[in-house]
Amino acid sequence: MDKKQILSRTDIPALYRELIPKFKETKPGQQAIGLCPFHDDTHPSLSLNLKSGVFNCFACGAKGNAIDLCIKVWGTDFKTTLHRLAERAGIKTTGSEKTANKSRAVAVFHYTDAEGKRLYRKVRYEPGRNGRKKEFFFFHGDKEKGRGCEPVPYRLHEIIKADKIFILEGEAKADILASWGLVATCLDSGSNSKWHPRYDQCFEGKEIVIVPDNDLPGEGYLNTIATGLRGKVKSLKVLRLPGLKEKEDIIDWVKRGGHA
Ligand SMILES: [Zn+2]
Repeated sequence: MDKKQILSRTDIPALYRELIPKFKETKPGQQAIGLCPFHDDTHPSLSLNLKSGVFNCFACGAKGNAIDLCIKVWGTDFKTTLHRLAERAGIKTTGSEKTANKSRAVAVFHYTDAEGKRLYRKVRYEPGRNGRKKEFFFFHGDKEKGRGCEPVPYRLHEIIKADKIFILEGEAKADILASWGLVATCLDSGSNSKWHPRYDQCFEGKEIVIVPDNDLPGEGYLNTIATGLRGKVKSLKVLRLPGLKEKEDIIDWVKRGGHA
């Protein structure tokens, strides 16, 4: 795979708009600013050249090209990053570079209606396609693809009756809290989940605790939920687990002995 070819065929403005929170073009098609993923940025300090893809941060001094930025935000290695960029740019990559391992289902999470009846399931496959570590697909009924209905919050039949609800990023994490006797949920598309006004009724007037993953997508997810719930719930708290390193989450915390 040719790095130059991939970069030259990449739509840099579209890529950066997707990767960088608070992305704003200061000179349309040429310059933009946004939140820096290399430090805990609250005011946009990252300057982006939309022609070359080169970026630099006024606050922490991070700089590099589009590949460096993708490696940071996606958390992928160099080879996987090139694959994903090639795929986005519509460039075919050779079969030998694709993962030789066969993908298989490693976990199934059931989404239910308010009465606990199964609506659809989310299946985790490892490895995913094109060098991804994992990939998720929805099924309903016997083997039908997709949800077959509108998305619902995870463990809906439990949260609908609860006064205090923990919101996590991912079903496995919600399941950990549930195993401790807490009521926990998540949205069904990880950090890319959107908030639907339909969800409001499940949370209105309740005590809500959001437990975000310690990374940039985690912050985005936190934002989506907090924005969706603001002013509608009795209390809205964010629980930041002590001692989490960058990209860690509650699963890492539990591995080190953390417990409710
Ligand atoms: Zn920075």
